[in-house]
Amino acid sequence: MAASNQGIDTSHFKRVLQARHAALRTAVHAALVRSDEEHYAQIAGQVHDAEDESLADLLVDVNLADITREIHELRDVDAALRRIVMGTYGICVGCKEAIARARLEAYPTAKRCLACQNEEERRRAAAPRSERVRRRRNPGRSTCRA
Ligand SMILES: [Zn+2]
Repeated sequence: MAASNQGIDTSHFKRVLQARHAALRTAVHAALVRSDEEHYAQIAGQVHDAEDESLADLLVDVNLADITREIHELRDVDAALRRIVMGTYGICVGCKEAIARARLEAYPTAKRCLACQNEEERRRAAAPRSERVRRRRNPGRSTCRA
């Protein structure tokens, strides 16, 4: 509880996270606009198709899958920015120890230290599918960029 993130330059990570937040919002918005255009173009070319309604559903699903990743990351970035405000940024939610600076540089949205993240991923891999789906709400780190 009383863990401290002193020594972490939160203003630096705040800038990084805010820039990422803005970029993701732009990407999601652009993807939505693009998906709409593709959607209409495809439908226009398939109007004679008796199954155009299910085709439309399929396209919506595909396009949503494209931006789901961005939306997930956006949520992670939001959570990280909230942790900065709360003063818990850079503190592992598992062991309450400070997360290594290098890890935060690589994954500014990380909420676990490497050891706890590895442990979490092992447990997640071992969990039954339904459990995994439920846990997906809380990915431990951003996996979108290496
Ligand atoms: Zn930890």
